[in-house]
Amino acid sequence: MSDDLIDLHTHTNQSDGSASPEELIRTASSKKARAVAITDHDTVAAIPEARTAADRFGIEFVTGIEISAEYSPGTMHLLGYCIDEKSVLLAEKLDALKKARQKRNPQIARRLQSLGFDIGYGEVIQLAGNEIVGRPHFAKLMVEKGYVASIQEAFDRFLKKGAPAYVEKARLSPSDSIALIHDAGGVAVLAHPYQLKVSPEKVENLIAELRDLGLDGIEAIYSRHSPAERSSYAEIAARHGLLVTGGSDYHGSYKPDISIVTGVGDLEVPYALLEAVKARAAARAEHVS
Ligand code: AMP
Ligand code: ZN
Ligand code: FE
Ligand code: FE
Repeated sequence: MSDDLIDLHTHTNQSDGSASPEELIRTASSKKARAVAITDHDTVAAIPEARTAADRFGIEFVTGIEISAEYSPGTMHLLGYCIDEKSVLLAEKLDALKKARQKRNPQIARRLQSLGFDIGYGEVIQLAGNEIVGRPHFAKLMVEKGYVASIQEAFDRFLKKGAPAYVEKARLSPSDSIALIHDAGGVAVLAHPYQLKVSPEKVENLIAELRDLGLDGIEAIYSRHSPAERSSYAEIAARHGLLVTGGSDYHGSYKPDISIVTGVGDLEVPYALLEAVKARAAARAEHVS
């Protein structure tokens, strides 16, 4: 295996992954990663521990975040890279997103209870063990209580958008999400575009609109993208002057089929993609100062 591989999309136990920041970096090191970004949902809490561990293991560490934007019919997630995790505006907005989760989560618990499941919000908080409590934590508790055989089954039957226990939460608009990432000095990348759930004919227009809002890149190389999707999104990126990035979306035991660096087995994200991301962040910093 090449020693030039990286992973720019991973989650720790500070959001809905199972590995601690240190464990995640150690696992990435055992898979010979040259660089890793942690992209927890709505939090930068993993960064200090991960940075220290990365120094120790000789891995380049990239700061990151994943923000869920207002969008339908599918989901739109925006990744921010090279962000300043100490940005005050970022902290403010992330706090608002955390509050939106705290409003939504008891409603999810009530929906599950009305469906006949003994799922208390307190138990879910305890299982999550961090401030960012999300649907995967509900799903895992349902597995532990024997209501479903897998986290995926919990989503498919109860928790996915449109399913009986799904509850909307307040989100930032795509435009505000991109602006927030830029304000924190970061590079804004559209995560896993297949989840937008738009037809191949329409996706290019949507991406062009996001580019006009300031989008910097597309995560073309993604665990759950087929080889054809990876090339097609990379071609769209090239046509619109956007960067290409890639990552596994590693969540540890919350997405048991996805390994860090290698995804479901065929993921290969070359280091050169990160160099382009860093160059874009540096160019923006130059422009601002
Ligand atoms: P939340 O932020 O609480 O809405 O949860 C979003 C997270 O749940 C995503 O980042 C995924 O990790 C997971 N997720 C969302 N939709 C699905 C799905 N249909 N199947 C499996 N996992 C999902
Ligand atoms: Zn997640
Ligand atoms: Fe995502
Ligand atoms: Fe993710």
